[in-house]
Amino acid sequence: MSLLIRNARLLDGSLVDLLADDHRWTRIGTDLAADGATEIDAEGRLATAPLVDCHLHLDASLTAGKPRWNESGTLLEGIDVWGELKPSLTEQDVYERAREIVRWSVAQGTLFIRAHADVSGENDAMVRGLLRLRDDVAELCTVQVTAFPQDGIFQRDGDEQRLEHAIRLGVDCVGGIPHYEPTSELGLLEVHRVFDLAKQYSRRIDVHCDETDDPNSRFLEVMADDTVKHAMAGRVTASHCTAMGSYEPYYSSKLHGFLRRSGINVVVNPFANSLIQGRLDAYPKRRGFAQLKELLAAGVNVSLGNDVVMDPWYSLGRADMVEAASLALHFTYMSGREEIPEMLRCATERGARTLGVEDEYGLEEGKPADLVVYDAPNALEVLRLHPPRRWVIRRGRVVAETTPARTTLLGEPVTFSP
Ligand SMILES: [Zn+2]
Repeated sequence: MSLLIRNARLLDGSLVDLLADDHRWTRIGTDLAADGATEIDAEGRLATAPLVDCHLHLDASLTAGKPRWNESGTLLEGIDVWGELKPSLTEQDVYERAREIVRWSVAQGTLFIRAHADVSGENDAMVRGLLRLRDDVAELCTVQVTAFPQDGIFQRDGDEQRLEHAIRLGVDCVGGIPHYEPTSELGLLEVHRVFDLAKQYSRRIDVHCDETDDPNSRFLEVMADDTVKHAMAGRVTASHCTAMGSYEPYYSSKLHGFLRRSGINVVVNPFANSLIQGRLDAYPKRRGFAQLKELLAAGVNVSLGNDVVMDPWYSLGRADMVEAASLALHFTYMSGREEIPEMLRCATERGARTLGVEDEYGLEEGKPADLVVYDAPNALEVLRLHPPRRWVIRRGRVVAETTPARTTLLGEPVTFSP
């Protein structure tokens, strides 16, 4: 089974043909010929390696309004609502909701997802449901599961053991939430415990780190230090890191170099954080985002996640990484000429680095034939228009296809382009 994509525009502006044979790219060049191959003419549309969603709470997706709505819209009420719902969830319910979000994701070109399964409390349905999902959808979408202790590991008896239990069940990453522990001393202990567990079980790390507006929340430096001490460069991710939006310049510049040398990845989650951070400030209000632009300039790998889709924290969302990149672009001032395509890299190849899947990712001969073709010619137009993903290709097969809508005004077409 061969598939030939003609006239695909790459991010660097070049126009290429891509030939897939036996699930892999076998030739990438110009004017390729392939007898008997199925052909698709991309007609100059932008094509990239798949979108990568580095942070998604799949276990909570599609539960908005259950058992009640988050009336205030705050993070803390969201955690309360989730806490009320959690004991009643079943493995099958988690599986089915998460599977539906994977379908939405793939249809929009996201073929790699790092999911978080809440492992706090007695019900282990979330981690069991997501592990089953990961294995069942592997042909269509690569899912990694993080054991995420939403309530911390030192506030309730048994939660530290439950985190280890989830690791034994087979998760890919060990998670944490040090800023949510009752004291910073316990937060430090938690970070060290997460690294010890990851080392012991040979897992990656993905910690919710400093997701607060408190400028004194500085667990990120501890994570960077532990990354160096445990020689885990590239295998550790700090997610959210919104306190960084309140760090003063001197400390920030010290931190940037430290993060780069440690090889830690940072993930920005624009949807929930744009609504949650700075909320309690009087005007002027802080934006409460990690310093994405400055981190990239310092050589730190930064990528993006949807984080929340119709759940107790965020009743909106449709799991689109292009929308996530567009929103992050606005909140982090990434509007420069070269910065706009870089935002799309944060949603694609930089995400692949965060997940550690570079060996099976990229438009290169020999790599798996995964591709997304946008109904737009370049990154600027993708982030401006959020166009449909015309074709999504997984392992050399078209798995999703969208026919763009057509708008007319008084009978004349409107294209939203000059
Ligand atoms: Zn999160």
